[in-house]
This record gives sequence, C-alpha cells and structure tokens, in this order.
Amino acid sequence: MHTPFDQELEARLTRYAAIDSQSDEESPGSPSTEIQFDMLRLLETELQEIGAQDVTLTDYGTVLATIPGTVPGPTVGLLAHVDTAPQFNASGVKPRVIKGYNGGEITYPDDPALVLSPEASPYLADKIGHDIVTASGLTLLGADDKAGVAIIMTAARHLLENRQIEHGPIRIAFTPDEEIGRGVDERLPKDLGADFAYTFDGGRVGEIEYETFSADAAEVSITGVSIHPGFAKGKMVNAIHLAARIIDCLPQATMTPEVTEAREGFWHATEMTGGSSQMKIKLILRDFEMEGLEQKGEMLRAVCAAVQATEPRATIACDIRPQYRNMRYWLEQDMTPVKLAQDACRDLGLDPVSVPIRGGTDGSRLTEMGVPCPNLFTGMQNIHGPLEWISVQDMGAATNLCLKLVERAAADD
Ligand SMILES: [Zn+2]
Repeated sequence: MHTPFDQELEARLTRYAAIDSQSDEESPGSPSTEIQFDMLRLLETELQEIGAQDVTLTDYGTVLATIPGTVPGPTVGLLAHVDTAPQFNASGVKPRVIKGYNGGEITYPDDPALVLSPEASPYLADKIGHDIVTASGLTLLGADDKAGVAIIMTAARHLLENRQIEHGPIRIAFTPDEEIGRGVDERLPKDLGADFAYTFDGGRVGEIEYETFSADAAEVSITGVSIHPGFAKGKMVNAIHLAARIIDCLPQATMTPEVTEAREGFWHATEMTGGSSQMKIKLILRDFEMEGLEQKGEMLRAVCAAVQATEPRATIACDIRPQYRNMRYWLEQDMTPVKLAQDACRDLGLDPVSVPIRGGTDGSRLTEMGVPCPNLFTGMQNIHGPLEWISVQDMGAATNLCLKLVERAAADD
C-alpha cells in the first residue's frame, strides 16, 4: 500500500492545495483569474529546480516542460489542471492529513456539522491504514486537480534523478481553466508536441477513462412586448411566462441530470435571467452519442418553435454551439494509448476499469484536436465540495502508473 513517493506526494498536495487558484466562468480573461498564476509560476520554478528542460509559461497560461528521453520512443504528454472548481469556496484551503485512517467517521475542525463517513462514501472504507487528506470544512480541497499536478511533478522529479530508467521524451503541461471548459488553447496541441497524452484527473484507483460526454451549450433568448401593466390589456407579452412555458415543455421526469445515470444523456437548465420584457435561458445538452446529442438540440428547438407559435408577437431565438465531443470517437480508431495504460495498470497488479465519464476533460478537446488523451486516476473523491478527500497512497499508485506507462511506451514502440 505505501509507496516511496508518499511523503513527497503529501507535501506537494498540501502545499499546492493551500494556494487559491479557482477559475471563474464569468471572466472573459485567459486564464480566467489572475490567481491561477500563483500556481503556474510556482510550477514553472519547481520544474526548473528539478532540472526539467524547455520550461515555459505560455501567454495562454499553460506551463510546459520537457523531460528528455533516455531512449528513443514516442513523445508522451502528461497533463493536469491548476484551477479548482468555481462551484464551492476555494479561498483559504487548510489541508490536513489523517495518518493511518482507522475506518471511522471523519469530522471537520471548521464545521462541526460536517461528517465524512465510510457509509456515505464506501470507497473510504477500503482505505483503512491510508493517509487521508481533506480540507477543514469550509472549503473544497482542490485535489481536483492538484493531486494530478503532485503526481506528475513527483514522477518528473523521479525520472530526472534516475536517468537509468528507460523512457522516451516526455512533455508536461499544466493548464488553467479546465473546470470552466477553457483549458485547451488552440495552440496547445502544437506547443505540446506529443504523440499522445494523458490527463491525471480521474477518481478511484484503476480508472482509465476514454469516453466522455459529447456536449453542446444552448442559449434561448426571449423578447416579449413591454408596456405599463396598467394599460397592458391585449398588448403585453410577458417574457417570463414564455420562459416558464419552455422549461415546462421540456421532459423533466426523464431527461434531466437528477433522473439520469450511466449512459443516459440529459438537458440541464443552468441559468435563467431577465425580466418581463426579455429573458435568457442557458442550458447544456449532454449525450454519449452524437445522434442523441443532436436529438436533444432538435427537441429544444422544437419546444422553442412551439412556444413561439403560441405567441407570434414575441421573438424566441435558440442558439446551440458545440463544447466538446466524446473522445472515444477518435480513440477507438487507435486504442494504443488506452491499451498502454491498461497494461501498465496490470503490471502494477491493479485491475483497469473504464467507465464513461459523465462530463468532459481537457483530454476531450485535446483528443478532438489530434492528440489522443485518455484520463487516468489520481484517487480524488467527493470533488467540488467540502467533503472532498484523497488517499496519499492512491496518489502513490497513480505515480507508479505514470512511471510504468512512460517505460512501457518506449519499450512497446
Ligand atoms: Zn479536474
């Protein structure tokens, strides 16, 4: 269970997690928040200190570096994101380590009402004897994805110190803004220069993910007819009523996130703003298959058209744009990167598990842009909330996987 990397991983994770690097969907900047530079600049320095080559912080906020190969082989990319989720407080994270977890409930110093129990989080029950890292109760931990950063940094340090290990060239990328879906800049595939890559951004030990949702975003704009309510008879068209009707016409009992699971897709209203004269509804559409995704778009358009037909004086516009696509469409044409990870996993005595991700990763965009990029486990659990936790030893297993993977990539070539 314990690995030679435990101490370093724990030190790195707790150090990185204490740095606020939350991204912000509302911000148009890139990176979306200045504070992400605190992590990016730290990693730039640390990479230089461990002797990585070509260390650069790009103007789109990604830290790149090279570990030169010791033998010929394909260039493997290793990625993790430095931002933390905007959904929960991430300022003043106080990581703490519970050494040799005893299997009981975990309580929190800053919120006595909060409890992490092995009953509610069964994966925790498997971690008796592990060192568990959590936050203090008021914030998320940010193991998503600082665990990924710590794993890659630890593996990089180890490879640079042990040049007898046979591996091909490795390119490292630490990206911003993954949590708001803006982690992969147009220039990244070329700047990364990898034949294939991996994100360390997954959950339980053994997870090797190569299927994500395909995703579209939709915006419905409703313009009513505005007039003083005292003189409105026969004239006013209230945009709020039309917005409510649109939501009401969409299938809520069968096709929303709260009633779907596994391979089922959904539509999800994320925001509704405005007033009686004008309303805006933001939605996301998700499905594992393009056909299902397109059907959801058509359904939304049909509902908008039907509500429009009931009120010709209003204007209802429905705009749908692509976000990312299921990486399986590209990976199934060449499963080498996936097989490599699965074999490396087996080498370590771990059973590889591949479950479709009900979301996307930086790897979804990267794969679509020509760099095949499955997602590998880090150990992170209960992400984006105060009960987030991770086992240091799970991170150790991920570090071992990373090392095994780059060895195999050169040997199998
Ligand atoms: Zn993540």
